[in-house]
Amino acid sequence: MRKCDSANPPDSKILKYKATKYVRLSYTDDKEKESDSIINQSRLIDDFVKDKADIEIVSEKIDDGYSGIIFDRPAFKEMMDDIASGKINCVIVKDLSRLGREYIETGRYLRRIFPAYGVRFIAVNDNIDTAKDSYTDDLTISIKNIMNDSYCRDISIKTRSALEAKRNNGDYVGACTIYGYKKDEENKNHLVIDEYAAKVVRDIFKMKIEGMSASKIADEINRLGILSPIEYKKNKGLPHPTGGYADRDNAKWSATTIIRILKDETYTGILIQGKQSTYNYKLKKLIDKPVSEWVRKENTHEAIIRKQDFDLVQKIMKLDTRTSPNKDKVYLFSGILICGCCGNRMTRISVPYKENKYYYYHCPTGKKNGCTLSGMIKENDLINCVSQNLKSHINNVISFEELLNSVNSEKINKELMNKAIMRIEENEKLFESVRKYKSSLYENFINGIVTKEEYTEYKKMYSEEQKCLENAVAELQKELENIMSNNSENFKWIEHFKRFSDLKEINRTAVIQLIQSIKIFGKNRIQIKFNYQPEYEKAISFLEEQKERVF
Ligand SMILES: [Zn+2]
Repeated sequence: MRKCDSANPPDSKILKYKATKYVRLSYTDDKEKESDSIINQSRLIDDFVKDKADIEIVSEKIDDGYSGIIFDRPAFKEMMDDIASGKINCVIVKDLSRLGREYIETGRYLRRIFPAYGVRFIAVNDNIDTAKDSYTDDLTISIKNIMNDSYCRDISIKTRSALEAKRNNGDYVGACTIYGYKKDEENKNHLVIDEYAAKVVRDIFKMKIEGMSASKIADEINRLGILSPIEYKKNKGLPHPTGGYADRDNAKWSATTIIRILKDETYTGILIQGKQSTYNYKLKKLIDKPVSEWVRKENTHEAIIRKQDFDLVQKIMKLDTRTSPNKDKVYLFSGILICGCCGNRMTRISVPYKENKYYYYHCPTGKKNGCTLSGMIKENDLINCVSQNLKSHINNVISFEELLNSVNSEKINKELMNKAIMRIEENEKLFESVRKYKSSLYENFINGIVTKEEYTEYKKMYSEEQKCLENAVAELQKELENIMSNNSENFKWIEHFKRFSDLKEINRTAVIQLIQSIKIFGKNRIQIKFNYQPEYEKAISFLEEQKERVF
């Protein structure tokens, strides 16, 4: 029996107890309740001790943000160390639930551990004082009572965000980093931006958005004398792949390298690992794994390319942008100008007239093959028409956003969503703890820590708690879905339009980013389908809903 020699047993004559104030505040409970704040708990204990001549407070232990059903709390552990070393022999809390919210474990401290060390325990608001004679009955009742303070009654939990937790998991494990990043000197599992290379990457994306082909981009970068990724890494003495093409001297930029960069999501802050099996260090012997087996983690490192620009480039690459042989730039409407009659892509032709050349679009299908669209559309007319329409649409979207900001729904939604995510996470953590306690219950019964009646009762209570927590999580998930359907993320598309708020002359970037298709039904009938049309409509109805709520 580990009866401690350094502390006095509770029944001996003690001149003064050396007490610690133990204060706990969890995310789960009471944050809203002023009376449970750290300061108020502490003050309440001070008031209680004021006229107690036999108690001297020597320390204060604060666990801020720790659940009562988990005993692995830093200040609590410090306190137990102080008890073990005899620095203190009295523990004072505001109420029993500050010590713990779990029956068996809390009971173990009160009935076994504290008495073994001769520690006097006081729970001010529960009238528990183990130095008094008749405390044992109170103890049993109180331990049961703290559980009535069910965890799930208050599900408004604040804890570290789920996003943050995700961030922590995305460790970079590769040997070589991708061009544009280097390993963090303080944490080799973390990628940081290599400014020089990152600028090259940004230029590559920019050139692509402006309509250049991959081989033209490669030529341009080679012309500027910028070292290819492999040469750059060799030059800087960074780890780089060896074998195969990597061993060639003076490897230049190629269209393949450019395309690989343009397709790499890593540049948007997403870490994708496990793309290839790595049984052989020689690059050419790596085997590509199916996309479904890749490991994706978001926000693991700083993005070099904005998500919207990356998406735009993917779209550009997908579009059938047939570059004319002599030029490396695509035309303004390449790929999106469609015949309203047959759905074929319209073709650009030049018609010389006197000294000048005029450009027209026409449908190549022809009457013979069933297209009745006749005549040609003058490119200049088309540009004027699309330009006007696009500008007024941009203005509409921008003024719409101002309205949206006036109800501030974006901010509200973001807050609501974060809150819901945090609550879910915390509830799941609690659920796991309850599960553990439940599974150790039988063992406690066998070892005589709990009686048969208690065993049955606790088992029932644990099950109820689990049920309660499960319901809470389900409800929160529903809430989260609701918020997300009106979510601020849904308004991100507005940014695409805002970037072109001062658009003077229509250009390829604006067309690709903002226009989904242009359908030609005739000389005077053109239908422009803007990108994010469903989002735009949804947002408008959302705004109307918000207004109804406000007024
Ligand atoms: Zn046609």
